[in-house]
Order: sequence, then C-alpha cells, then structure tokens
Amino acid sequence: MSEENPTLSSAPAPKPKYEFFKTIQHYIEAGCKTVDVPEYVHTILSQPKNEIIVNFPVRMDDGSIKLFKGYRIQHNNLLGPYKGGMRFHESVTLDDAKALAAMMTIKCALMNLPYGGGKGGIKFNPNAVSRTELQRITRRFFHALGSNIGPETDIPAPDVGTDSRIMAWAMDTYMNSVGGEKQAVKGVVTGKPVASGGTLGREKATGQGLVHCITEWAEDKNFQLGGATIIVQGFGNVGSHTSAILSKLGVSLIAVGDHTGYLYNPEGFNPYKLQEYVKRNRSIEGYPAGKKISREEFFKIKADIFAPAALEGQIGAEEAQALNVRLVAEGANGPCTPEGEKVLLERGIDILPDILANSGGVTVSYYEWVQNKRSEQWTLEEVDDRLEKAMKRAYREVVDMAREKKVSMRLASYAVAINRIGQVYSEREIFP
Ligand code: NAD
Repeated sequence: MSEENPTLSSAPAPKPKYEFFKTIQHYIEAGCKTVDVPEYVHTILSQPKNEIIVNFPVRMDDGSIKLFKGYRIQHNNLLGPYKGGMRFHESVTLDDAKALAAMMTIKCALMNLPYGGGKGGIKFNPNAVSRTELQRITRRFFHALGSNIGPETDIPAPDVGTDSRIMAWAMDTYMNSVGGEKQAVKGVVTGKPVASGGTLGREKATGQGLVHCITEWAEDKNFQLGGATIIVQGFGNVGSHTSAILSKLGVSLIAVGDHTGYLYNPEGFNPYKLQEYVKRNRSIEGYPAGKKISREEFFKIKADIFAPAALEGQIGAEEAQALNVRLVAEGANGPCTPEGEKVLLERGIDILPDILANSGGVTVSYYEWVQNKRSEQWTLEEVDDRLEKAMKRAYREVVDMAREKKVSMRLASYAVAINRIGQVYSEREIFP
C-alpha cells in the first residue's frame, strides 16, 4: 500500500547502515596523506590480506545440529603476527570484521607492538545458548580455523561477547587439534585466565589504558578529575573497568546503559556493586539503584565525560548534537560515525580516539604473549607500570602529530601508526 502512496506511511525513514569498513578505509587514506607515505602503502592497507570464512556444525543441548558462520580477517602482518579480538554477537558481519581488523593493524603500529592486525567472530547471541553449547561453539570454531591461527601466525583475544573463559577453551582446542608442545603454544590466544597462562592486569587493561588517556587529557586541559562526572554506554569488560578505575580518582558514574536499556543516578552508581550485579545477571536490567531512562535521555545528560564502550556507530550526528559533555573517550571501536565526529568537533567537544584510547588491551595482551614465550609471570605492578608508560608515550606522540600536522587526534593516531608502517615498507620493499 505504502509503495503506491508513500505519504500514508508514518514510519520514519530507516537510517542508512553505518559503513564501518568504508569509514576506516577513509581514515587510512587520510592518514597516508598526512604523513606522505608512498601510494603503494595505501594500496596495500586498503584491503585485508586474508578473509577466512568457516561454516561449522554444532550439536545443541536438545540434540539438534545447528550451522554457525565464523570469520577471521587477517589484515596485515608486516610488523608481526596478526593480532585482534574475537567477537560473539548477532551483529557480526564480514564487513565489520574487516574494519576492526584494519583498526588493529593501525593500533598495534601506534603502540609500537610487533604485531599486525586481525579480527573475527561468530554471528550469534552468546546469551541465548547454554554454557555447554557455548563451549562446543567455541571449540568447533577454533577447530575449523586450524593452523590459520597460532602463536607466531595469528593471535586472537577477547572482544564483545567473549572473555577469559572462552580464551581458555580456544587455547585448549588449538593445543589438542593443531598440536605442538603444549606449553610452547600457550600464546595462541591472549586474555586467558591467569592460571591458564594469562597475565595479571589483562582483565582491566583496556579500561586502565583509557583512564591513562583521560588523565593525560585532564592534565593538558587543567581539568580536575576529582568531582567530575561520567556517563558510560556498555557495561561489559571495558565500560565496567573504566568506571571502577575512574571512581578511585573521584569520577562519579551518573548514567549507564547496555543492550537492555539505560539507568540514571545523579548521586552516582557504585561501579563495583554494578559490576557484581552484571556478572550475576548478564546485564544492568533490574539494578535497583537507578532510574530507568530512554536512550535519547541518556545522550542528553549533562556530564563531564562520555565513554562509549559498546558497539560501533553509536554516535551519529543526532547523538553528537544531544551530548552535553566536554570529552568523548572512546572505549569502543568506531563508536563515532564521521558525521557524529564532525558535529562533536564543531561543538568543541574533545575526542580521545579509539585507536589510541582503547589500545591498553592489546598492549597488555602483548605482555601476556611475551610472558608465555619466556615462561614468566610478571607482577601486577610490573604490568601496570609498563602499560602506563606505553599509554603516555603514545598519547604524547599523537598530541605532537596533531599539533604538527594540524589534524584531529583521530587522524594523528592513524598518521603516527602509518608513518611506522611506511618506514618498514620502505626498508623491506615488496616481494618479489
Ligand atoms: P563486552 O561484551 O564485555 O561488553 C559489551 C557491552 O556493550 C555490554 O554491556 C553490552 O550489553 C553492551 N551493548 C551491546 N549492544 C549494545 C547496544 N546496542 N546498546 C548499548 N549497549 C550495548 O565487550 P567489551 O570487551 O567491553 O567491548 C566493548 C567495546 O570495546 C567494543 O567496541 C570492543 O571492540 C572494544 N574493545 C574491547 C577490548 C577488550 O579488551 N575487551 C579492547 C579494545 C576495544
């Protein structure tokens, strides 16, 4: 009916899908231009090296067999093995995995890690399956990937919907299917439980790194963090640890949201109690200490800082116009659309870009991999110390590049990374 008479339809026009990979391709192109690397560097970085898709059957608890689709994108391995998370979420697509893998190439180069970039995942809802099903899905996926991954080839880690427990199953599957001396291949994944070869400090690493960036920003801007307020979207690994660490610096979490909805508490939430609640209940839904608000209301709340820590594409032009904060600290990957970023910058709202701001996770993953290679266990102080130095160095490099080239912090972070990659290409050149 509405096809014949479109004016009869009162439904709002659907928003165009956020083209995540195209956006990242654009940033890479702009980054290449900023530091003037040879055109072939841009050509190579514009597409991933390998795109692996596997379909694999899993026996469900009721005896039925279901087919799952898994992805692993290997973007670039110039600087070292491919490195990046595995996402279990219904929204996983090949295109988004390509975007996230390319971001990992840039992130690892920015942090000066001996890694390239990769990313992958499975398109399904991990909250809708039992623990035993989740284990079988994980194991069949990693079995299907076989020797495409490995401690010197491609090293997955946790991302949205995956955690240390899933990494332990992944490591065990690799050890038992691909083989090799078991202790020697522990580094096939990072983000493992500490007793199974993980490192102290990995669980909170992304949040911790984000807090180091926020602290540096506050110092630069002469901004007092004590007494400041934050709103956080996504209260999983990144969102919850960021909130908890910031609370120790006197920053109060006054609104929070996840896939089930949003809560507001002007007195401030206790992030530790909320973390416990989410561990038990898998979401913030039903948490008694806050008032339910809509997503629209959440984006309008007056606060000092907004930390997106959920999914990409969350801050479009509309949300950017609504936000009433001084700083957007990107815990998530790709939370701002280019239109959203434009509005934020026009409004004078600072952005700590994902490539820099959430790189604490992969940095501590590198420390875990080094400990696995050396059969060592570092203290939490050692991990924390190294991370702090690494984050502060990268922050300064990005600020300096932004000043020198008069570009945004986001473009500056791509430029620092691409400069490093470009230098190695110019030394090694292209085979054959
Ligand atoms: P997680 O699975 O632990 O948490 C994800 C959170 O996002 C959950 O609270 C979930 O409810 C929420 N969420 C999902 N869909 C949502 C929606 N439509 N609206 C609002 N909230 C929604 O994942 P995580 O590891 O914390 O990752 C979060 C983000 O940080 C992702 O963009 C990820 O790529 C990025 N990141 C994670 C790490 C890491 O070490 N885990 C490192 C770097 C970047």
